[in-house]
Amino acid sequence: MASSCIIYFDIAAVVIMAVTLLSLILRGMTRGATNRVYLTCMILVLVTAVACLAGEVYDQCIMPSLVQSGVVDPNQPPPARDAITLVYYALRSLTAPMYLVLIATVSTTTHRLNSNNFRRVCLWVPMVGTFLFVLTNPVHHLVYNYVQGVPVAGSHIWILYAAATYYALIGIAWLVRWRKLLSSLEFTTLLLLYPIVFVSLIVEHELPDLHINMFITSVSMLIVSAFVIRPENRFDTLVNAASLPAYREMCRRAFLSDRRLCLVYLEIVNLERLRDLVGKDELQNIVRNVSANLSSRLERDDVLYYLRNGSFCIMSRNLSIDHALRVAHQAHSEGKMRSMDSDERSARTMMRTCVVRIPHDVPDNDTLKAFVRRFSHLMPQTGVTTFEELSKQENFGLEMALSDIVKRSIEDHSFTVYYQPIWNLANKRFQSAEALIRLDDPTFGQISPAMFIPEAEQNGLIDEIGDILFEKICAFLGRVDYRATGLDYLEVNLSAEQCIQPNLASNLIALMHEHGVEPRRMNLEITETSSAFSQKVIDANVHTLSAAGVTFSLDDYGTGYSNAIRMLSLPFSVVKFDKSLVDGLGDPSVRTMLSSTITMLHSIGKQTLAEGVETAEQAETLAKMGIDFIQGYHYAKPMPEDEFLAFLEEHNRA
Ligand code: C2E
Ligand code: CA
Ligand code: CA
Repeated sequence: MASSCIIYFDIAAVVIMAVTLLSLILRGMTRGATNRVYLTCMILVLVTAVACLAGEVYDQCIMPSLVQSGVVDPNQPPPARDAITLVYYALRSLTAPMYLVLIATVSTTTHRLNSNNFRRVCLWVPMVGTFLFVLTNPVHHLVYNYVQGVPVAGSHIWILYAAATYYALIGIAWLVRWRKLLSSLEFTTLLLLYPIVFVSLIVEHELPDLHINMFITSVSMLIVSAFVIRPENRFDTLVNAASLPAYREMCRRAFLSDRRLCLVYLEIVNLERLRDLVGKDELQNIVRNVSANLSSRLERDDVLYYLRNGSFCIMSRNLSIDHALRVAHQAHSEGKMRSMDSDERSARTMMRTCVVRIPHDVPDNDTLKAFVRRFSHLMPQTGVTTFEELSKQENFGLEMALSDIVKRSIEDHSFTVYYQPIWNLANKRFQSAEALIRLDDPTFGQISPAMFIPEAEQNGLIDEIGDILFEKICAFLGRVDYRATGLDYLEVNLSAEQCIQPNLASNLIALMHEHGVEPRRMNLEITETSSAFSQKVIDANVHTLSAAGVTFSLDDYGTGYSNAIRMLSLPFSVVKFDKSLVDGLGDPSVRTMLSSTITMLHSIGKQTLAEGVETAEQAETLAKMGIDFIQGYHYAKPMPEDEFLAFLEEHNRA
C-alpha cells in the first residue's frame, strides 16, 4: 500500500511538471529572463521527478524479480540504477541555488547578485562544490549507499542539506531585502515555498515511506507559475510583445535597484493618419507586423515592450551607446520597411526613435515618465536621436517640467480665465465670448493652453482643471450684468477627455444652479475628434445638457477628419471654422468651399463662426459669404475679466 502511494505521488509530480511546462511553451512564454529561468527551474524539477519515479519503479517492480532470479547482487545494483540515483541527487543539489536565481530574476536584481567577486564566490562555490561532491559519490559513497539494492542516505548527506539551507537563507534574505520590487502576491508566494518544502522534507525524514517531497516541490512550482509568472499581465497578446504594465514595472524596478539600462523608444509618427487611411483593424495588423519585425532582430537579453498607441520600447542590457544607436537605427528602418510591404495601399509607417540611458540621462522614474510623455513634442519629426541631443533643445526644460507645473497650478488654483469677444454680424454687437484658460508660471512665464491642455489630458488632470475652470466661469456668469454688458452667453472649451466623464452633465448643471446661472448662458465647444471616444457617454452628456438648455458649438471645423453623420447627430447650434481655413481665404477654391459650406450649414439650421480673423479684408470676405459670427485679433484679443467687462460696456453701448 505504502509503496504504491510512493509511486502515485511521483507520478503526480511528473504529470504536474510536464503539463505546466507544456502550457508555458504553448503560451509562448519562453522569451525574457524570468521566463527562461523559470523554465530552467521547471525542467530541473521535472527531470529530478522523472529520475525519482524511475528509481522507485525500478526498486519496486524490477529489482525484486532480478534479485529473486539471482541476476543482480542486492548490494551492488546495476549501473542503470546507479545512474538514476546519481542524476537524482546531483539535480537536487541544484534546486535551491536555482530557486535563488529565480527570486533574483523575478525581482530583477540578478545584477546585484553578481555585483562583485565576493558575492559571485558566495553564490557559485557552494553550489559547484556540492554538485561535484555528489558526482564523486561512486568513489566515496558519502552521499548515498545501497542497502538491499535500495539507495539510502550516506553518512555525509547533511552536506547537501546544509548547502540547501544556506541557499534558502540567502533566498529569504534576498526576498526581504528587495521586497519593494515585488508585489505582495509575488513576495508571499516566493517566500512561502521555503516553509512548504521544509515541512515536506521533515515529513519525508520522519516517514520515509511517504515520499512526498517531489510532489510538494512540483505543486509549489505550479503555484509560482500561477501567481508569479503571469503572462496576461506581462504580455500584450495583440502585438506579441511585453506589455505596458510590464514596462512600467521594469522601469520602477530599474530605478529602485540602481540598474543600468539602455532604452530605445520607437513611435509611429503617423498613427492617426494610418488609422484614417487603412482603418482600425488593418492598423492593428501594421502594428503587429512592426512588432514582429522588431522582435526578430532582438539580441538575447533584449526585451520588446508595446506601450500602446503605436509606441514601443526596446530594453537592452548592453549599455554602449553605439550598440543602442545600432539597435535604434535598425529598429527604425525595420519598422518602416515592414509596414510598407505589408500594405498594398502604400500606407507607410514613419517612426521617431530615441535612445535613453538609465541612470546616465534620467535620474529617476518621474523624469523618465515626463520625457516619454513629451517625446513626440520634443521630436515632432521622424528619425533617430538620443536623449542627450533632445535635451539641448531650448524648450526642453519647460517640456520636462510641464507635468509638475500643471500639477502645482491645480493645487493652488492659479489658472486664470481670459475672454475673447465674438462679433455677431446680424446685430452688430459682441454678444458672446470664448473663455480661454491661462497659466502663468514664475519661471517660464505664460504657457500656452495648446501645450499644457494636451499634457493635462494625457496624465488625467484635465478633469480637475475643468472643475476649477467651470467654477470660475460659473462664478463669473453668476455676477455678470447681462443688460449693462450686452453679453448673451459664453463659449467654453470642453476637451474630448472631459466629454467622456459620466457625471459631467450633472456636475455642470449643479454648478450652474449653485451660482444662479441659466443654462442658456453657456455654450460648450467640442471638437470632432471627440467622436472617436466613447460615444455613448458623450451622447448622454450632450443630450442631458442640451435638454437643460446648454447649447453646443463644433470647434476647429476643417482640421480633423470629419465624420459628417456623427457631427449631425449631435445638437450643435454653431460650427466654428478653424483659423487655417480663414488663413486660406486668398485661395479661390477655399473661398468656394467655405461659401458653399456656410450655405449648406444654414440650410440645416446651423450658425457659422470664423476663428482667427486678423484683418479687415478677411472679415469683409467672410461677411459677404454670410458668416454669422467672427472671432479674432481683428476685433479683440483674449483679455482678463475686468478688461473684458470694460470692453463690452464700451463697445456694446446702445
Ligand atoms: P481654440 O479653442 O481653437 O481657441 C482659439 C485659439 O485661437 C485661442 O488660443 C485664441 O487665443 C487664438 N486666437 C483667437 N483669435 C486669434 C487670431 O486672430 N489670431 C491668432 N493667431 N490666434 C487667435 P489659446 O487661448 O492659446 O488656446 C489654444 C487652445 O487651447 C484652444 O484652441 C483650445 O483648444 C485650448 N483651450 C484653451 N482654453 C481651454 C479650456 O479652458 N479648456 C480646454 N479644454 N481647452 C482650452
Ligand atoms: Ca475653442
Ligand atoms: Ca478653435
